Amino acid sequence: MNVIKPGQTIGILGGGQLGRMMATAAKHMGYRIAVLDPAADCPTAQVADVHIQAAYDDMKAAEELGSYSDVITYEFENVDAEVSRFFESQDKLPQGSLSLAVSQNREKEKGFAEKADIPVPAYRIVQTYEEVKAAIDDIGYPAVMKTISGGYDGKGQFLLRNEADLADTEKEMADGHYIVEQWLTIDKEVSQVFTRDQQGKISFFPVAENVHRDQVLFTTTIPASLEEDGKAEIRKHTEVLAEELGVVGTFAVEWFVSEGQVYFNEMAPRPHNSGHYTIEACNVSQFEQHIRAIAGLPLLPVHAFPAAKMINVLGRHRDALLQSLDKEEVHLHDYGKKEARSQRKMGHVTIIGSSLDDIAKKEPAWMRDW
Ligand code: ADP
Ligand code: MG
Repeated sequence: MNVIKPGQTIGILGGGQLGRMMATAAKHMGYRIAVLDPAADCPTAQVADVHIQAAYDDMKAAEELGSYSDVITYEFENVDAEVSRFFESQDKLPQGSLSLAVSQNREKEKGFAEKADIPVPAYRIVQTYEEVKAAIDDIGYPAVMKTISGGYDGKGQFLLRNEADLADTEKEMADGHYIVEQWLTIDKEVSQVFTRDQQGKISFFPVAENVHRDQVLFTTTIPASLEEDGKAEIRKHTEVLAEELGVVGTFAVEWFVSEGQVYFNEMAPRPHNSGHYTIEACNVSQFEQHIRAIAGLPLLPVHAFPAAKMINVLGRHRDALLQSLDKEEVHLHDYGKKEARSQRKMGHVTIIGSSLDDIAKKEPAWMRDW
């Protein structure tokens, strides 16, 4: 295995906040960073040594990124297949392309979990309005229809509560495949972020509990309010998926808990928003473990503070956050994005505490308006 040493360069496909936090972790360890992203002054470019400003599927630009980089990683799953194959053929993509192919397609993703005997919500793959109606006949209301690929933060999703919603989908549907899923009554949402190294050793972060508002992640908290058995079941299922996919690097699996039963929701072949708490709450962050894995360094054993909460900062919270900076005792992360659109993730804050009660006392005032 090729060990990447301080002074060598890590190339990142995608220049958002995940790339930025990977880059800052890598910088602490002495690596140089090259990033490929079409946006000028994107979050990662602000902390990178080299920025190649081009489209993600521009092969010439990918080749240029490769020429600067000793190893390549990605911060999002919608990496162009030709680009990932190119880096794989150069032996520069330790994460491989299988996790990408599976996680960028909800049909493959659900099928993969089912094949591993992991429970998933009832679902049907559809392409036409007639097929949506047939899916609803089978699954019933409420259901949710999602685009097969390209969706994030609830984008590309339609809730089907009744016949009126169903009729609306006829107008909304574009060409392509969708998945129609049973809408579960969710008791809890949790995620398991972990890292797997190139020898196959896995290091788990604590199971974290996630609260979404309008399908966007609002908070992530540890410890998750789940029995030890439930956490063990999640780790066991996650490990099976990790082995089957041959994961390398940091990876996240999202789970629903509904009426005491654990269901697979989706996975991300990269560091995840629900793992940002690890930056301050653990001895090693999801980003540092990721860099260690792709650089061929051993993973560190994970230790965590007793309690932590991460709160996302969207564009609509930014002003309140900035006004109360001098009053709140929180760890601040700002992604350096200029344009504060209402639903856009601008940053996050993390609270560390001795217990969940202790955390509750430190919650910033602006989060009540989330
Ligand atoms: P995204 O790629 O946008 O994160 P998800 O499939 O994770 O898509 O959906 C976003 C959120 O929507 C979930 O975290 C959950 O809160 C809600 N959701 C999605 N699918 C279901 C479902 N089948 N039942 C209940 N809630 C769901
Ligand atoms: Mg999700």
